[in-house]
Amino acid sequence: MSGFIGLGQDVVTRADQLTPVETHLAAILAMLPNPDPIELRVGDGLGLVLAEDAVSSTLLPATDNSAMDGYALIAGDLAGATRAQPVRLSVTGEVTAGSGELPTVARGTCVRIMTGAPIPPGADTIVPVELTLAEGGTVSFHLVPSFGENIRHAGEDLVPGQPLVAAGRRLAPADIALLSAAGVTRVRCVPAPRVVIMSTGDELVPADREPAPGQVRDSNSVMLAAMVRATGGLPFVTGAIPDDVDALVEAFESNLGHADLFVCTGGASAGIRDLLADVIGRMGEVSAVKVAMRPGMPQIRGRIGATPVIGLPGNPVSSFVSFEVFVRPAIRALQGRRDVHRPTIIAQVAEPISAPPHKRGYVRVRLAREGSGWSARPTGAQGSHLITSIAQADGLAIVPEAVTEVRVGDEVRVMLLVD
Ligand code: AMP
Ligand code: MG
Repeated sequence: MSGFIGLGQDVVTRADQLTPVETHLAAILAMLPNPDPIELRVGDGLGLVLAEDAVSSTLLPATDNSAMDGYALIAGDLAGATRAQPVRLSVTGEVTAGSGELPTVARGTCVRIMTGAPIPPGADTIVPVELTLAEGGTVSFHLVPSFGENIRHAGEDLVPGQPLVAAGRRLAPADIALLSAAGVTRVRCVPAPRVVIMSTGDELVPADREPAPGQVRDSNSVMLAAMVRATGGLPFVTGAIPDDVDALVEAFESNLGHADLFVCTGGASAGIRDLLADVIGRMGEVSAVKVAMRPGMPQIRGRIGATPVIGLPGNPVSSFVSFEVFVRPAIRALQGRRDVHRPTIIAQVAEPISAPPHKRGYVRVRLAREGSGWSARPTGAQGSHLITSIAQADGLAIVPEAVTEVRVGDEVRVMLLVD
């Protein structure tokens, strides 16, 4: 346990007591267990990271087949064919996609063939039906075809043993198509992490209930569940847990069995009801730190058994920003994803921004196209209790620790919240 600052100690945090954002994030990522792959049907793997290389078990196409509806024939039979002097061949049979037994094409004859149907023995070329004229049992051809045209060759797409999708790739619909066509029916993938969301606070009531005086709607549970889902995790919401040691212990214990990660909000700072770090410390190990950021300074990381726990401050905006900065990367790492960070862009600030000294500011901004670049404008007042400030944000402008004033026209890096 380290750095828990209770009542009676320094209320103003000194700069040297602050933990850099990167240090806390690195410590969170370092405590995550390696993902455990599961085997599932290819079609159920959409969006999941493949845990081992997938290799083709088949030849694709399996046989030479026709690229067109038309006639399978011997190209040499059509030598000299012109519009004035067409060549006529008798039609001796028909093959469709899926035909088993195939008629043989002899000189002076042809076989009607459909797209995807196997090439009948003897034939070396397919002439599309559009270029022919059928009369009774014969067909006339008035052009000399190129030898071998309109034939798709066996193995042209895939051969057995050919690499299909490499381990580490997140399966997209086209990968699922490729794997299925190649005869791969089951794959090993990293399952979606199960994230147990625990809001804590005596004042909280479910968001769909009218709060009595002094009570507050538990919007964090709903918000965090949505954020977990948007990240690709499976949220389990415990509902608000009172600020009570026994209730907190019971909530952790009863959810340990199905948690790959606990995300808690509230009770993370130095109030008399802020019990979370103590409880996690009793059940496992914990670090309660003051991170050099605003919003979101009080943060908790810890472990109960093998299950990592991340504790965020309860203010909805702090909770939102710290989810983006710490929890989203953790969930992505648990998914086996290598790129755990949001993309960023550079934008020009359209309104002055002031930021605290020694802390990284995460300012909720709206982005607009400006010439060939972007402009960023704060979404309004930035208090960490003002939930209106996150609702319209396209991004979080990152104001470095050493910067306290950003002027109009200055460039800032913006973490994109929109896809
Ligand atoms: P705490 O981090 O517990 O000190 O809470 C800080 C502030 O955030 C208080 O005003 C709480 O009422 C508010 N708060 C805490 N948890 C939630 C929650 N789950 N939903 C909405 N507001 C909350
Ligand atoms: Mg609280």
